[in-house]
Amino acid sequence: MEVPRSAIPTPPTEQVLPGLWSIPVPIPNNPLGHTNVYAFETDRGPVLIDAGWDDDTSWNSLVDGMALAGYRVDDCYGVLVTHMHPDHHGLSARIHAASGSWIAMHPKDAAMIPKMGGSDHARSDFVDEVAAMLLDAGASEDEIVVRTRPSGKSRPRMIEPDRELSDGQRVDVPGWRVDAVWTPGHSPGHTCFRVPDHALLLAGDHILPTITPHIAISRADRHGDPLGDFIASLHKVNQPDVAWVLPAHEHRFEHLDHRVREIVAHHEAHLESLLTELSSGPKTLWDLAKSLAWNRPWGELDQMMHRAAVNETAAHLRHLVRRERIARIKGLKPITFELAQQTP
Ligand SMILES: [Zn+2]
Ligand SMILES: [Zn+2]
Repeated sequence: MEVPRSAIPTPPTEQVLPGLWSIPVPIPNNPLGHTNVYAFETDRGPVLIDAGWDDDTSWNSLVDGMALAGYRVDDCYGVLVTHMHPDHHGLSARIHAASGSWIAMHPKDAAMIPKMGGSDHARSDFVDEVAAMLLDAGASEDEIVVRTRPSGKSRPRMIEPDRELSDGQRVDVPGWRVDAVWTPGHSPGHTCFRVPDHALLLAGDHILPTITPHIAISRADRHGDPLGDFIASLHKVNQPDVAWVLPAHEHRFEHLDHRVREIVAHHEAHLESLLTELSSGPKTLWDLAKSLAWNRPWGELDQMMHRAAVNETAAHLRHLVRRERIARIKGLKPITFELAQQTP
């Protein structure tokens, strides 16, 4: 997980190539800055890749961006959602209400929507759940006393998609060849889109030019290996016929192969440093998370960032368990790992 140190400025709406637009939609109060919504022009109306954050400012930017492209949001024919995170799927409901457009998503992400959003009360319980989770990981009581209580209004529930995406499927973008590529890792159902006639990969959060997406063990698949899935998904999209990557955050870029190698190396370095940390004896999940380099000193991270860091560390440790390099010590709380016994 790497978040930018300062907010990324929002670039203007622009035509990427004739008939394909990039419309940056701001994410208020978030260092990521904006989500790049892409719009394909078709004779049935625009098809969007992602929708943006559900907020009036974001909605107005989408409306203005669509107007520059010569459309109204009511004209939309469909929305292809890369994954269910609110900065991608948030505005889908409002677009659907305005236009009657279909909304398509991979079923593994669609299945998680009923568990998201909800009341402030539920989110308050969630903060307590996070505290319990950090104690389980090995945090001491005084390390987690600074709590970030959820503030402001509760987040509305997101719309359930009415179309399913499947791996390799040619999706409904009239006049264009657009193929879905299932890329689990950042989320279980994350999906990228290839446009082979124009050598493009619309990458969602899977591959970003300078930051890496958060990887955590999913509540929907507690025994999964999301880092292993993510690395496999990086190799899956790394095809020589991709000239440009159009990501959902930051800016578009070339040299996909180079970026894939950088991201894999970033995670391999994390795995190596965890092994080094464990070479001096068993360690708790919390201490292992603390030992890794994050984008800010550990003491400056708030409880939600600690949770993200612990979750991401847990995903790396899970991957090392799968590779039989380490083992979790059974029955011990807080959660503790050790190097795997060498077989003679
Ligand atoms: Zn995401
Ligand atoms: Zn995102």
